[in-house]
Amino acid sequence: MDAPVVRPTGPIELTNPMSVKDLADALSVSHAEVIKELIRNGIFATINQSIDYDTASLVAAELGFETTTERGATERAAAEAAAEQDLVAPGSEEEKSTRPALWEDAAGANLVSRAPVVTIMGHVDHGKTSLLDAIRDTKVAAGERGGITQHIGASEVVHNDKRIVFLDTPGHEAFTAMRARGAQVTDIAIIVVAADDGVMPQTKEAIDHVRAARVPMIVAINKIDKPDAQPDRVKQELADNNVLIEEYGGDVIAVPVSAKQRTGLDDLMEMVLLVADLQDLKADPSRAAIGTIIESKVEKGRGNVATVLIQTGTLKIGDIVSVGRTWGRVRALNNAAGTRIKEAEPASAAEIIGLQDLPEAGDILRVVADEKTARDLAERATAAAGADGRGASSLEEISAQISQSDTKELRVVLKTDVQGSLGAIRHSIERLTNDEVRINIIREGAGDINESDINLASASDAVVIGFNTKLDPGATRSAEATGVDVRLYDVIYKLTDDVTQALSGMLAPKIVEQVEGHAEVRMVIKAGRAGNVAGSYVTDGRIVRGGQARLFRAGQLLAETRITSLKRFKDDVREVATGFECGIGLDLDDIAEGDVIECFQMIAEAQTL
Ligand code: GDP
Repeated sequence: MDAPVVRPTGPIELTNPMSVKDLADALSVSHAEVIKELIRNGIFATINQSIDYDTASLVAAELGFETTTERGATERAAAEAAAEQDLVAPGSEEEKSTRPALWEDAAGANLVSRAPVVTIMGHVDHGKTSLLDAIRDTKVAAGERGGITQHIGASEVVHNDKRIVFLDTPGHEAFTAMRARGAQVTDIAIIVVAADDGVMPQTKEAIDHVRAARVPMIVAINKIDKPDAQPDRVKQELADNNVLIEEYGGDVIAVPVSAKQRTGLDDLMEMVLLVADLQDLKADPSRAAIGTIIESKVEKGRGNVATVLIQTGTLKIGDIVSVGRTWGRVRALNNAAGTRIKEAEPASAAEIIGLQDLPEAGDILRVVADEKTARDLAERATAAAGADGRGASSLEEISAQISQSDTKELRVVLKTDVQGSLGAIRHSIERLTNDEVRINIIREGAGDINESDINLASASDAVVIGFNTKLDPGATRSAEATGVDVRLYDVIYKLTDDVTQALSGMLAPKIVEQVEGHAEVRMVIKAGRAGNVAGSYVTDGRIVRGGQARLFRAGQLLAETRITSLKRFKDDVREVATGFECGIGLDLDDIAEGDVIECFQMIAEAQTL
């Protein structure tokens, strides 16, 4: 794009609708430039034709201008108000009905109150680990303090004689990974925000994840001991992100704390128990145990060791359990303090020894009658996992669900290249909502599509839509592993067409393989544990970092893998074109001189203008 000589500074005001001419004038660019941009977006308009606000602001953003968000802001506020209503109050009937079924298995039986299970999330360095440590140090039940606490993936603290269970993995990755597998163990999320840093990208991610999971949140405003702490700014930023704390007329509790000086921790625990009370958490200790695996590892001398969070029932030594694709007899139990126990009650974490194989985090543990049942269940789970280990997350599958009228909502994670085009794309998509199906944009943001976007989509059965953006390497891996549908567009009408079709439950598959190019291996360099690097020469097309690779020897396909690294001399590069030499990292042992590497990618079809 040629930069106009005089560019307006500051945001540009747009009207709705406005003519192409007026838009060009407002932006101080030529009419041709606006028309060109419109054509790029599949809209053929003449100078005097009117275009709507969304289109105008999209064009403006694409040309590098900031536009006023006035109209956007009003709609945003309305959408936010609607979203606010969507947030269910802890303890409400709706919230209860969406609670994970496991906790509810005990309905109607000998229900007693149980402890809440809490996860701490937030931006890196905001003090998640410090806060957890501080809580543990000050709140671990008397008698257990001072002992070397074994790491089993969860800890228990006692406040006012009431137990609270904390999951030890801070951050939303574990939370979402588990939820993606259908397991939800968290009752309350504590979102930590550093008072000297404010709401940051991972804070927003955490908020999105917690919302999508409909888990009540408490905000811990940490580091208030710091001289540059600005708790009020944090509250304002939370409000900007649609988290309204009580002071601002909302119902989210915020507690100022200092993990370093250990202040505010009692208040925080108080609030956790208050929110837990509202949720009226119950379980039946008298029944056979059901729980979720939160961690597992092989240990020398102990074999397969797994930590299970018991959700209902009581787990006892000698119980026979089915756990995901494996099973076993509980030979020994340890509690969160590392003490040997004979049984584990609901809402407690226990380390179990005696499983045949290593289960995965998120696997469900159930006590069964006998070994035969346990074995059968494990076999069935293995067979089922082989058939299809993942949920519905391609647009086609979700579309099929919609047509069966199960899902009344198309959930979308939306990423665009620049912040400026977000609003316009959002409006274009939301406008497609019809009487039967609602479009719910569960996250939106500018930048590359990252792993967290994929995880959120996977956990929420959402599709990821990218406009003029791409996947980062972590996201590519994660999308492959989870099967989440990622659709990349650079033309708005293709995007809206696809979404319209998905809504009507008639979408045709659109993801296709695209061969990017080939390279010939000239030299193989052992790169230690990280696999091999093939010193190669690109013979046609291009080699793309993050792409997939096929290895051919004498015309025969030997292996399919991923390109783990791509270097020109010592530098990491995004792609290497025909006629250049490069180092291609492959996760393969067997690579030889003369092999041919084919680079390909899975892409959304028909992205041409
Ligand atoms: P995490 O990445 O969120 O787990 O953050 P950490 O717990 O590792 O903390 C990041 C940094 O912030 C460390 O240097 C901590 O010592 C510091 N920190 C954590 N909490 C506080 C606090 O309340 N006050 C101050 N001044 N520093 C803190």
